[in-house]
Amino acid sequence: MLTSSPSCKDMTPFICPLCRSPFTKINNTEVCENNHHFDIAKEGYLNLLPVQSKSSKNPGDNKEMMSARRAFLSTGGYFPLAQKIAQISEQYLANIKQATLLDLGCGEGYYTNLLKQQLSSHNIVGLDISKIAIRYAAKRYPDIHFCVASAYQIPLLDDSIDLIVRIYAPSKAEELTRLIKENGYLITVTPAPRHLFQLREAIYEQVNSHAEENEAVKGFTKVEQITLNYELDIDDPQQLKDLINMTPFAWKFTPEKLTELLGQQRWKVECDFNIEVFLKN
Ligand SMILES: [Zn+2]
Repeated sequence: MLTSSPSCKDMTPFICPLCRSPFTKINNTEVCENNHHFDIAKEGYLNLLPVQSKSSKNPGDNKEMMSARRAFLSTGGYFPLAQKIAQISEQYLANIKQATLLDLGCGEGYYTNLLKQQLSSHNIVGLDISKIAIRYAAKRYPDIHFCVASAYQIPLLDDSIDLIVRIYAPSKAEELTRLIKENGYLITVTPAPRHLFQLREAIYEQVNSHAEENEAVKGFTKVEQITLNYELDIDDPQQLKDLINMTPFAWKFTPEKLTELLGQQRWKVECDFNIEVFLKN
């Protein structure tokens, strides 16, 4: 038997990905004006990724990467980032009574959940192309709207979002412009020059710095740039392994270099994030 959704989730913010018309909920199916049907999964999320736009059978991060990320995030290693993002979002939404916030590329919902905790009166929507990540997120955080969809073709109405949070995820400027209301915001997080420097140092002879500043987002004006830098003091080799396995560094380490790194007792790893806030013109 399927459990009923909490009342705050009765209205889906999503639209039909095929014809872009709104949905009506009939039992456990969302049906659009043109009779396209999308079943609500038992975990409560919607899969709005049309089969033809899937580039592979299971797009998005793989399961191993996701498990490593979940394990690492549960240690609180990126909690300062989550806290900062929630705080900035709250600050920019201070004058709006009930805003709609989209966590674009939300993965298994770690940041989405912290946003919901901090901004409980607002509607929080999480979107990711990975079905296993969304399934996990919806199961764990039932009061958030989650959907499986492409960031390049987002099943949400024009001018319906007050704020988009985009942590590392790729996106298309046209879609951001279309979705965000006038005077709405986009908050992006990208790695800053010192991010995970000690891991890169263990892999490469010479470490290249990440770009300090990203390119401008078309249709937006940057209003704030914040650098968040802190050091992780890791004494559990599993936590270090999880951190490595959730990043592309997992494929860069040679077995020798990894053994050498894991042979230490304690690791200091810098986290360095570049947070930028953009206002829609
Ligand atoms: Zn439709």
